[in-house]
Amino acid sequence: AIAREVLNIVVVGHVDHGKSTVIGRLLYDTQSLPEGAIERVKRISREKGKPFEYAYLLDAFEEEQKQGITIDTTRLQFHTGKRDYVIIDAPGHKEFLKNMISGAASAEAALLIIDANEGIQEQSKRHGYLLSLLGIQKVYVLVNKMDLIDYSEEKFNEIRHEMNEFLNNLHVYPLKYIPVAAFYGENLASRSDKMPWYKGEPLLQAIDLLEKDQGLEGKPLRFPIQDVYKFDNRRIIAGRIESGTLNVGDEILISPSNKVTTVKSIEYWAEKDKQESVYAGMSVGITVADEFFNQRGEFISHVNNAPLSADTFKANLFWLGKRELVKNKEYKLKLVTQEIECEILSIIKVIDATTLENIENASQVKTNDVAEVIIRTKKKICFDEFKNNQNTGRFVIVDGYDVSGGGIVAGLVEEIQTAS
Ligand code: GDP
Repeated sequence: AIAREVLNIVVVGHVDHGKSTVIGRLLYDTQSLPEGAIERVKRISREKGKPFEYAYLLDAFEEEQKQGITIDTTRLQFHTGKRDYVIIDAPGHKEFLKNMISGAASAEAALLIIDANEGIQEQSKRHGYLLSLLGIQKVYVLVNKMDLIDYSEEKFNEIRHEMNEFLNNLHVYPLKYIPVAAFYGENLASRSDKMPWYKGEPLLQAIDLLEKDQGLEGKPLRFPIQDVYKFDNRRIIAGRIESGTLNVGDEILISPSNKVTTVKSIEYWAEKDKQESVYAGMSVGITVADEFFNQRGEFISHVNNAPLSADTFKANLFWLGKRELVKNKEYKLKLVTQEIECEILSIIKVIDATTLENIENASQVKTNDVAEVIIRTKKKICFDEFKNNQNTGRFVIVDGYDVSGGGIVAGLVEEIQTAS
């Protein structure tokens, strides 16, 4: 069988705005529930003395897991004709941020849920900010509980305008705003006849239209040098292809030293013989036409598709250190094969990862805080924006001997300043 495409999706929103109901209803409407799940929900509802709740489906899963039966709640899935969707579980913001920044989880798209009746809450905005912080650009805003406002187009538009203005300021441009009533399945799996004024697709069709980001193989070549060996008078440049494809004969650029040469041969260790092209995920050795002095940490790319290279950049980081992260102190930054001294030039914004509350005028970043910072490295290094390349856009910070934080590259400083 051909492997089905998988898309990771995260569902965020103020408590009680309907996350569990949306998820439960999506599982139900796509027949992605295990046998007996609905019966369990009925039982849980009865036990709680409450009417049937799709939200209890998640409780039912949890119960099943506690009994050690089947499903792992962190891997809730639903299926459409097009692909499988894995719901990234976010038990708390802290775990979510940590997992996303460290690479343990990766949400490719997000559903941001707003209760139509309660309207946009502070937490709805914080969730929007969180998505921008993580560079998640495929965002659908669901205005839920439309039944409570008589399916009013006017109120939907008010929420849409207000949220859109807020998100656009954060450089988040939602793909769609969809009016839904998750409890009744309106505009989730099928078009609602309660809201004929809404001309867009219902949620499932909308997300099925989403094109997945190109895999790492299809992205620009990034081949960070791990080591250079001398071998029978040849110099072999070794490392792992982080993204893209490399072929014999390719003209390549070595950054940040800015040297151009061509690939003479590729030695792919695993195969113990020569290959004409290698791609993302492979550890390889190559020889090049011009034997410059190359060293660990430099990036090989194609000439017309170079990585960013600078000594100052903007980053979003998650701090786990025992000591606070402070300005003007020497830390070590590790980004793929690069390892270099760095310092925090400025702390732009700090938020408590548990509550997502803004910490005003912070001069340091404490354990479990998330911060927007500007980092300066001792020398120029190579990287990409995280949203363009997850392997070369991610780094860790070492304080003394301890890995104390993880971060993602948000962009060059000049670019950010002209953009805002
Ligand atoms: P969560 O905290 O975001 O996961 O919210 P829940 O999914 O638990 O929903 C909170 C409450 O809102 C529950 O009692 C749901 O039944 C209710 N709810 C969810 N969706 C709708 C809806 O479309 N219409 C109405 N009237 N209530 C809803």
